[in-house]
Amino acid sequence: MSTDRPMWIANEHVTATTDEWLTSEDPATERVIGRVPAGGRDEVERAVAAATAARDTWRFTAANDRAELLHEAVSKSLQRLDELVELLTREQGKARPEQEEEAEWALTSLRYYAELGRNGSGRVIPSAEPETQLNLVLKQPYGVVGAIVPWNFPLLLLAWKLAPALAAGNTVVIKPSELTSLTTLEWIERCFDHFPPGVVNVVTGRGAEAGEALVAHPDVRVVAMTGSVETGQRIASVAAPMMKHLHLELGGKDAFVVAPDADVATAADALAYAALFNAGQVCTASERIYVPAAMRDGFAEAITAKVEGLRLGPGIEAGTDVGPMAADRFRTKVARHVEEAVARGARVVTGGGRPDRPGYFFEPTVLVDVEDEMVIMQEETFGPAIPIATYDSLDEAIDRVNAHPMGLGACLRSSDPVAVKRFYERVEAGTVWINDPLTDNYAGPFGGMKLTGGGRELGPEGLETFLQTKHVHWDLSEASKDWWYPY
Ligand code: NAD
Repeated sequence: MSTDRPMWIANEHVTATTDEWLTSEDPATERVIGRVPAGGRDEVERAVAAATAARDTWRFTAANDRAELLHEAVSKSLQRLDELVELLTREQGKARPEQEEEAEWALTSLRYYAELGRNGSGRVIPSAEPETQLNLVLKQPYGVVGAIVPWNFPLLLLAWKLAPALAAGNTVVIKPSELTSLTTLEWIERCFDHFPPGVVNVVTGRGAEAGEALVAHPDVRVVAMTGSVETGQRIASVAAPMMKHLHLELGGKDAFVVAPDADVATAADALAYAALFNAGQVCTASERIYVPAAMRDGFAEAITAKVEGLRLGPGIEAGTDVGPMAADRFRTKVARHVEEAVARGARVVTGGGRPDRPGYFFEPTVLVDVEDEMVIMQEETFGPAIPIATYDSLDEAIDRVNAHPMGLGACLRSSDPVAVKRFYERVEAGTVWINDPLTDNYAGPFGGMKLTGGGRELGPEGLETFLQTKHVHWDLSEASKDWWYPY
């Protein structure tokens, strides 16, 4: 069954001024499951006007009341969790347990920021004249936030922006990915409809049209975006002349390093999870694997056995481990990376093909004899490929990890404390996982270094990014000062 779903602006359904629609497909069947309007400048204008009109009321709503509204969104979401997860699975593709996890994490982030938002983070600082002056550091909302979200974790990565932005007192205009707009609309219009009109709005449409119009709108003071480096660079160039506050969470090319002391079997288990969760469509997926040269064959055997035991299938089916890729063009990119690596001397140990069935499936693929210069070790693959390279010393591995221009995450498997400390001190990555890859912590800031952008989500940093700082210097009297003119 296919549904048409209008946009959500000021708590009302809105269709686009043009009659153009974007289709959402089930990537496991290639069937269209619904359509959303291809919004553009007009719809962005309308949504930003609604968010601007709601801005002052929301800003001066008590933090405790904002917290209660966020908790109510959690309660509503829990009542609809099954439907929401089912739609998410049909529209996005990953295995249902991973979708359930995504939805639960998204709700935890709402709870976390609801509570964190109750605490002010401003402070009173010492004054030059302590008895007659007051100096305050205020943390204030920016106003209207544009939240631009990718398709790989559409609820989670929205929640990481929406919850802190609202808790901090901002109003929000969301631009979901073209691929996952149905789930976003379902969640927001059903579970956030108790917020005052204009506080939470959704404009659907293409990135280059609706997305860019949102970035360019003068009343949008913060652009919080997760997506590719190329899109982040484009957004930065559009926003720069207006000096907007940018919060960018961009692409990754995470390394997974197996230390010489590591246990091969559990390292292979950890890697399968780190590389194949969401069919490898995770910004922090392990995409560059470094194994000591002496361990290469044993490790390749262990990871191959693990991968061959996984079940590829529709995310909605019980027992599926790895779902389809979200769209055919992403599968084409993985195939291109594998083919280029093979042409330059790499060897496919398992996988490498597209199963003969409907849906955008790509077999989980293990490659050995991989070199850092190959495209599969340089560009973000964002798919179920595990390219294995070898190294001779841990310092050499660290240098090769750091040679890449992106710096989102990195994982080390080791029980050697000296190796672990050397690794986490030197690696240029926003998150370092020792032994337990891909695990987030709500109190732990998440984000990248270098080309990945410097934004941080989660933790107090994830709230701070939606607050601007003001210093108030208050002399309690109007008395003249002896350092004023004339000298
Ligand atoms: P994308 O860059 O193609 O799109 C992301 C969002 O930006 C979408 O909503 C899109 O419509 C919008 N957009 C595109 N062009 C735009 C423009 N000119 N102006 C404004 N908005 C525009 O990314 P994607 O394919 O949706 O997501 C995959 C990428 O996201 C990968 O590179 C992945 O690594 C990255 N990602 C990063 C993180 C992180 O936390 N660092 C998390 C998840 C995904």
